[in-house]
Amino acid sequence: MVREMDERASIPRALVDRLFDLGVMGIRVPEAHGGASGSFFHAVLAIEGLSRVDPSVAVLVDVHNTLVVSALVHWGGDELQDRYLPRLAGGTVGAYALSEAGSGSDAFALATRATDTPDGFALDGRKLWITNGAEAGVFIIFATVNPEAGHRGITAFIVERDTPGFRVGKKEDKLGIRASSTCELLMDGCVVPRANVLGEIGKGYRVAIETLNEGRIGIGAQMVGLAQGAIDHATTYVKERKQFGRAIADFQAVQFQVARAATELEAARLMVYNAARRRDAGEPFVKEAAMCKLFSSEVAERVTSLAVNLFGGYGFVKDYPVEKLYRDAKIGQIYEGTSNLQLQTIAKQILG
Ligand SMILES: Cc1cc2nc3c(=O)[nH]c(=O)nc-3n(C[C@H](O)[C@H](O)[C@H](O)COP(=O)(O)OP(=O)(O)OC[C@H]3O[C@@H](n4cnc5c(N)ncnc54)[C@H](O)[C@@H]3O)c2cc1C
Repeated sequence: MVREMDERASIPRALVDRLFDLGVMGIRVPEAHGGASGSFFHAVLAIEGLSRVDPSVAVLVDVHNTLVVSALVHWGGDELQDRYLPRLAGGTVGAYALSEAGSGSDAFALATRATDTPDGFALDGRKLWITNGAEAGVFIIFATVNPEAGHRGITAFIVERDTPGFRVGKKEDKLGIRASSTCELLMDGCVVPRANVLGEIGKGYRVAIETLNEGRIGIGAQMVGLAQGAIDHATTYVKERKQFGRAIADFQAVQFQVARAATELEAARLMVYNAARRRDAGEPFVKEAAMCKLFSSEVAERVTSLAVNLFGGYGFVKDYPVEKLYRDAKIGQIYEGTSNLQLQTIAKQILG
């Protein structure tokens, strides 16, 4: 289905349902709420495995588990958890909406307003680039209750898709991970009950920072998985393809390129696993998470590019999956913090 999903730029609902049936969507949901009570590491392994075949399906699972479910488990009180976690394990996809047209890297310059009213908070504004926008039933939306307070005004809200005043807008037409939906969200007097504040009022920046700090390990896993997929395809191909009367895998130049790619990939994988392990062990992991995303997204770009080269002309057409994996790799250097922002985080951790 991978090529068809890429061409149609959508993931069929039947496949999303299968992910729920398999328990993949509930990995991070506690057993008491119908999930698997899996560790962060379990989620990372699932994302890596899925990315080997299709990074678009993997990011649907990734955002749902490592951002939405994680934020609810960490910041949601009993009432919010009782209401939403069983749904997130049982068939409702989650999305996480921080970015806006004017605030990407500078995420806390967001302009979406939350106005306190007798009926709850009225949200007004527009979110951009929201993964799972087409499929999601539940959205975590960041808005400010007081623009003058800067990041201290930012608050996280749980918003249901059918809330009056809430609408999913345009879906982006993308270079890679085309099957994953990336949508704008429009809020126009969208009233959210006070009980749907996730964490505390004015503490949304902490919800965002803490979930994204660990979420980027999931993107590292996506990059490692897709690079592994590209190497798998390339190693099969170079053993079959003959030029100059022998398999191209017999040429030492090709062997060394594959060996270097596999070595880099192993380093990236171990960095992702180490960051996930540290996170699960309660050790500091912010530097390691930023490093693993930075490095694995660069490795993924190099490895998928090599895979295209090794397929020769066939690498440049859509008949083989490496062309798609090459396109899919690019996003790793952009979302959940661009590479420059990862470097900034790493430098801050090292230099103080
Ligand atoms: C496919 C896709 C899915 C996404 N999914 C989601 C989602 O589910 N939820 C969500 O909230 N967001 C999502 N995003 C948004 C994504 O996180 C942002 O695009 C990203 O953070 C970059 O922000 P920006 O696009 O505004 O780029 P900008 O911030 O404008 O950056 C442009 C360039 O300037 C550089 N730059 C900016 N500031 C600095 C600085 N201080 N120092 C050095 N360089 C700098 C950047 O590194 C980059 O190269 C998604 C984006 C895409 C493309």
